[in-house]
Amino acid sequence: MSTAEPAASAPSAPLGVRKLLESHGLRPRKSLGQNFLVNRGVLARIVAAADVTRDDVVIEVGPGGGALTIALAAKARQVIAVEKDARLAEALRLELEGHPGITIVEADMLKLTPEALLRAHGATNRYKVVANLPYYVANPILRQFLEAEAKPELLVVLLQREVARSIAAKPGDMSLLSVAVQLFARPTIVGIVRPGSFYPPPKVDSAIVRLDVRPEPAVVAPGETQGLIDVARAGFSARRKQLANSLSHALEMPRDEVFDRLTRAGVAPQRRAETLSLEEWGAVYRELGHVRR
Ligand code: SAM
Repeated sequence: MSTAEPAASAPSAPLGVRKLLESHGLRPRKSLGQNFLVNRGVLARIVAAADVTRDDVVIEVGPGGGALTIALAAKARQVIAVEKDARLAEALRLELEGHPGITIVEADMLKLTPEALLRAHGATNRYKVVANLPYYVANPILRQFLEAEAKPELLVVLLQREVARSIAAKPGDMSLLSVAVQLFARPTIVGIVRPGSFYPPPKVDSAIVRLDVRPEPAVVAPGETQGLIDVARAGFSARRKQLANSLSHALEMPRDEVFDRLTRAGVAPQRRAETLSLEEWGAVYRELGHVRR
């Protein structure tokens, strides 16, 4: 992992986002997670991490001032950019009018399905997602794509550094988020991005994460992923407790029975949820997944 900022001599002009906002009488809206990228080196790193080619349709969530959108459009066949802020979407439409290969859709991404979005814009279900995600909804947006009927081939997203770490965690540091993401994709942290690369700067570091979506979910059948996530949620419901206790409490099941089932799954009941691998969650799910709560 390396810092994604370019050397000090590289350009880091505000890429016109301040001008765009000013000329339309707009200000960055904290409530919509608006921290705009103003570092060309970081933009280039994000686009490169997604291996974008002329065959690619890219969904961008939150184009904001359009800097990443334009960088993507220079490589992709089509960029479908979904922006929730109506005034920003309008400003961007005017700004990018006539720019080939870019479609601005004014919508809340969480209220769309990728399938419907692609269909509405004449695209097939083969696509990538590239985004500087609004941090306040980053997790639900990730899960929306990973659990969609039409999943992307890969996602390259900018996230809060701690969230990125949690997504890419290994047994010992796992969380419900790492289980829910790694079930569907293999994460790689591509680089760290400092607050100075954004306008306005966020309070924390960010990270570029690439998620290579698995052709099939890991360790369980496609119809069983929600069941596994539910069991993992129960396991993580009381952090730092022994697994047998947190599962027995959350699943309302006698501790002895949970103890036996964990033992049958080959997982010591005294273990803590954060130490389990995906394979072990698969085994626990097979022993406990059918339990009604
Ligand atoms: N892509 C731009 C960039 O890198 O400079 C802006 C990124 S900014 C972190 C996040 C963008 O997502 C903002 O433009 C914000 O208005 C938009 N946004 C926030 N919530 C959204 C949602 N639910 N659906 C679509 N866009 C959203």
